[in-house]
Amino acid sequence: MEGEAGERVDLTLLRRHLGAFLLLFCAAWSLVAAPPVAAAPGISRISDIRAWTNEIYTRVAIYTGDEVSWEANTLRADPLHGLPPRIFIDIRGAGIHDGILHKPVEIRNGLLRQVRAGRFDRGTVRVVIDLERESTYRVFALPAPFRIIVDIDGEGEIPALPVSPGPVAAGSSPENPVPSPAAPTASPAIPPSFESPRVAALPPSPARKPRVSVMIDPGHGGKDPGAIGPTGLKEKDVVLDIARRIREKLLLSGEFDVRMTRDEDVFIPLEERTAMANKGSVDIFVSLHINASRNRRAEGFSTYVLSRGASNREDLELAARENGVPVQKLQGVKFIIDDMFTGARKNESLRLAKTVNDAVVRHVSTRYPGAQSNGLKQAPFYVLVGARMTAVLVEASFISNTREEARLRDPACLDGIADGVVEAVRYYGQNGILAHTDY
Ligand SMILES: [Zn+2]
Repeated sequence: MEGEAGERVDLTLLRRHLGAFLLLFCAAWSLVAAPPVAAAPGISRISDIRAWTNEIYTRVAIYTGDEVSWEANTLRADPLHGLPPRIFIDIRGAGIHDGILHKPVEIRNGLLRQVRAGRFDRGTVRVVIDLERESTYRVFALPAPFRIIVDIDGEGEIPALPVSPGPVAAGSSPENPVPSPAAPTASPAIPPSFESPRVAALPPSPARKPRVSVMIDPGHGGKDPGAIGPTGLKEKDVVLDIARRIREKLLLSGEFDVRMTRDEDVFIPLEERTAMANKGSVDIFVSLHINASRNRRAEGFSTYVLSRGASNREDLELAARENGVPVQKLQGVKFIIDDMFTGARKNESLRLAKTVNDAVVRHVSTRYPGAQSNGLKQAPFYVLVGARMTAVLVEASFISNTREEARLRDPACLDGIADGVVEAVRYYGQNGILAHTDY
């Protein structure tokens, strides 16, 4: 959570990988034109634009439904025309929902002014992010449903309430970069879902920050049940139960500020979970999941950290399932993860992941001797992409295994899993190996 995030990102701007499906690139203002980024053509349209603000960046998500071809670029401030610095995303072959035209999403958080969209030319929709000041940013796409995520670095003021869409602004201002003066009638209308209610509902930061802040992320929820066991036990219910136990135990110690990405049976997109974790100086992010396999005998516990690829087919299949995409979509993935953050945090994340896994297996073994450890692993989990803190993902046994599914119905087993996570997090906190440590 260092303040030098912006400068650090500069270093990665040229590291751009193109993947068949997930594409990320880092860019800075010195990068005048990013080459087009991929994707198969399809009939899709921009259906929603949302934004979240936290102390490190503001995240804008542009939902297009189907995969689209897109390109991001920047424009410097144009005082002659009264235009601020801008980031724009050209989306080709896409339409735009009428509700988004001519209604900019007003943000005005000291970092972003507004987000608007319009038809740039016959085949292109342009989404323009008007900035209050120049800033580094990253753009990447996530599939199923396809959405383009723009993270603009810098601290934004977090408003108490969403702001209503303002009057149409900027009309025919020269949002088009040099070539086409036929400026788009660009002011988009984006539903004012500026801060999602769930994000906005997060408790305010306490006046006196406890030593360690932990975000527990029970995977799945709502329409997404996660994996389902042979007798119908749902992953989403199990991980929520475990998360509540962890929260209760951590709060009892008095050493932690504990939050949860969800505390009920609701669906939350993966990228929103990460944005929530980055909000409010969270030190440790623990995503909770239960594994599943076609091999009904597969068993045991493993804990993951984010990596660009997976070391074997099983981990790749797991990441694909947790990401909600077919495995083929994941195979071409080249993650550009912000090495500044993940590089620094990765060692910490690896350390925490190993501690978590060992402790969970040990605690569960006291109730169920022979609980198996599959150890520390790495895979490309979307929910961990962009996390600025020490972040791990626990796969707490296999719900597809009849014996392990039965265990997961036993509160004592869930308590053991929670005890393991709590022990590891406390150990990690007490030893001062915190994400806030500068590297
Ligand atoms: Zn899961």
